[in-house]
Amino acid sequence: MPLRGSVYIRDTRLGKLAVGQTIDGKVVAAAVRAEVRERVMRLAARGVVPGLAAILVGDDPASRVYVGNKGKACADVGIRSFGHRLPAAMPEGELVALVRRLGRDPEVHGILVQLPLPPPLRAAAVIEALTPEKDVDGLHPVSQGRLLAGQPGLRPCTPLGVLRLIDTTGIALVGARTVVVGRSVLVGKPVALLLLERHATVTLCHSRTADLAGEVARAEVVVAATGHAGLVRGEWIRPGAVVIDVGINRRAEGKLCGDVEFEPARERAGFITPVPGGVGPMTVAMLLANTVTAAEQAAAARAA
Ligand code: NAD
Repeated sequence: MPLRGSVYIRDTRLGKLAVGQTIDGKVVAAAVRAEVRERVMRLAARGVVPGLAAILVGDDPASRVYVGNKGKACADVGIRSFGHRLPAAMPEGELVALVRRLGRDPEVHGILVQLPLPPPLRAAAVIEALTPEKDVDGLHPVSQGRLLAGQPGLRPCTPLGVLRLIDTTGIALVGARTVVVGRSVLVGKPVALLLLERHATVTLCHSRTADLAGEVARAEVVVAATGHAGLVRGEWIRPGAVVIDVGINRRAEGKLCGDVEFEPARERAGFITPVPGGVGPMTVAMLLANTVTAAEQAAAARAA
């Protein structure tokens, strides 16, 4: 239902549309957490407590905050968390051995390696040591391959959060013209594959795209993930479009902003996510959801 007081525009294909509705990522993330809490309770009735192991190497302050927040979020929904804080000088072989050991630990259902790792540790080598069934960040090559092949598996958290936000708008993705700006392994490519899985028509744009303005202007759904403040101009947005802004950029005065020019885009978009308060809160919520999914699948595999 459009909000009261909404402004309407007409679109030949989509009909009467409300414009300028902001999607509150904190509200949607709270709904996801509530669902996770219920699933945790159902698992508890079967004697299973979902567990997430978080590995933090070195003392990067931002990484410490992220891992701390994830631990608190776990506690809030009844997921047990196992913190592993390791020195930056940790030999890669020992880190890999820890990841493998956690892979065999029946109390651990999800393993999270906080990135970036301090050099010379290689993220790829550590991620490849993960058990794909516990790869709650969806970064292992097997998880990525399963996504590409359309097979069940754990999907990366931020892209899952993007899809969930799109779904709150009620837009039908089947056949919809969608544009993803950014082709990173972490965000752009998996978002494109998840949209494809939902039968959207997907255009994946990047730094060499010839006519970004033209591509965005045709899109009923735009997902921006470039890390360039204001790259997606408000005037490019097709009236009534759903705009999901993944970008996190810091302005000169210290404030955060996204990749989309927010105010001018909001005047044309049907729905738009703010930065901060849009995609950001969804990432941790989807990490919790993935951990419970991994625990449910482990319990089902044991029961089989
Ligand atoms: P990245 O640097 O790995 O990839 C950026 C992508 O943008 C590249 O594929 C590049 O081709 C594209 N790009 C760059 N300039 C462009 C241009 N002029 N036109 C079109 N495309 C262009 O970044 P990433 O890891 O995908 O992250 C993107 C943004 O999303 C960053 O701001 C990051 O901080 C943010 N992010 C947010 C969350 C969250 O939870 N909200 C999670 C992950 C990433």
